[in-house]
Amino acid sequence: MKLVDPSLFRQACPVADRWIEAEGRQATTIRNPATGEALGAVPDLGAAETVDAIKAAVIAQKLWAKKTAGERASVLKAWHRLMIENRDDLAMILTLEQGKPLGEAKGEITYGASFIEWFAEEARRINGEIIPGHQPDKRILVLRQPAGVVAAITPWNFPNAMMTRKVGPALAAGCAVVLKPAPQTPFSAIALAVLAERAGLPPGLLSIVTGDAAAIGGVLTASRDIRVLTFTGSTRTGELLYRQCAPTIKKLGLELGGNAPFIVFDDADLDAAVEGAIIAKFRNNGQTCVCANRIYVQGGVYEAFAAKLATAVAALKVGNGLERDVVLGPLIDENAVAKIETHIRDAVSKGASLVSGGKRHALGGLFFEPTILRDVDGSMQVAREETFGPLAPLFRFRDEQDVIEQANDTEFGLASYFYARDLSRVFRVAEALEYGMVGVNTGLVSTAEAPFGGVKMSGLGREGSRHGLDEYTELKYVCLGGI
Ligand code: ADP
Repeated sequence: MKLVDPSLFRQACPVADRWIEAEGRQATTIRNPATGEALGAVPDLGAAETVDAIKAAVIAQKLWAKKTAGERASVLKAWHRLMIENRDDLAMILTLEQGKPLGEAKGEITYGASFIEWFAEEARRINGEIIPGHQPDKRILVLRQPAGVVAAITPWNFPNAMMTRKVGPALAAGCAVVLKPAPQTPFSAIALAVLAERAGLPPGLLSIVTGDAAAIGGVLTASRDIRVLTFTGSTRTGELLYRQCAPTIKKLGLELGGNAPFIVFDDADLDAAVEGAIIAKFRNNGQTCVCANRIYVQGGVYEAFAAKLATAVAALKVGNGLERDVVLGPLIDENAVAKIETHIRDAVSKGASLVSGGKRHALGGLFFEPTILRDVDGSMQVAREETFGPLAPLFRFRDEQDVIEQANDTEFGLASYFYARDLSRVFRVAEALEYGMVGVNTGLVSTAEAPFGGVKMSGLGREGSRHGLDEYTELKYVCLGGI
């Protein structure tokens, strides 16, 4: 691995006030999904190290919370600066362990760092309130205080940004964090911890625990010292963690699965819609929870849209993310390849037909051809489940009412997209979609400035924006009497 600063690639975890090396103990080898090559190893940690991390976090958090917001912000700003300065190395580590093209990985580092900058700025605006009193001798004050120690569990699709989106607001608010990264992509999180230490983050405030998910998750969820659980991942695991958190009544932030509709109305700018569909569908090779999962096209433009999309998809180069011009890397693992194959087989057996792709790529391994299916309908698996791969299924719809019903006919409610030009329609449809986020004439909605999150089975809470601090703060009402 060619890094400008090789010390960013560390085969060790920061736990409490020390680093636990993989070498000399039980460890797990991490592989590059593009080549199968071993990159390095991380220690197999479990309940004991998680308990240590929590104990250290409890102590570190109390001291951190006593600092002024400006002092906390200056550490976060230094961390942000280091992320940007080391962007190329962080992106290289990310591509090697996750597979996304290097250009996309650099984009993720910039995006990830933006949450640290944003919450460094917000740290100084965690304002309370003074409310007009209910009696002449009373005054009502509301303080916003840190919630305490936070457990964060993150996924493999954005190993950098899903960490910063949680750790940024937590640290800004005065909390400490014990983080469990995804088993496929621990090195991006560890590299950020190396930089956090360099930025002056006090020891114990950010621990990273790699290893047995159920054991680590069990301790984190059962601990009374952990006041917040923030999780991004599958709805299945989210439900389990929600249940495990019930006995200790934790605050919860859950960013779970999606099943995003992408709607193209007759009056849409078709070229813009195709461009948006490529971004919303094929970014990270279809492996994001906000990826378009169902593409609904109105009858009058169905053929034209399908033809234009096929041309655009034919230009997408598949390969190792380190190679020039590659826009689609490998899928994360064999299960991901099996799922897209199942969805294609199911749809074709029920009457859909292939416009392009449809099978494993000639490159072999975890590479898959970008695929378009047409004449897809609600009876097919792809209408109900997130594919999480490069499959664009085209559904046909009649009118606005019809497509709103189809789009909302899912247990999920994270992102949705539509392309239309009629202003009244834009308002009507944006209001009618039962989703936490709506992209109108755009295929990309994520940014540190906006509240990201879902409704229904897609989760609880919002990340980013000033609302992204809510999970990490508690309101305290102080009633002053006898005045
Ligand atoms: P995916 O199937 O896409 O990997 P998961 O929801 O299983 O999605 O994974 C997201 C994160 O949740 C990962 O860090 C994973 O290790 C973690 N995870 C999975 N199962 C558990 C569990 N029982 N307890 C705690 N964390 C878990």
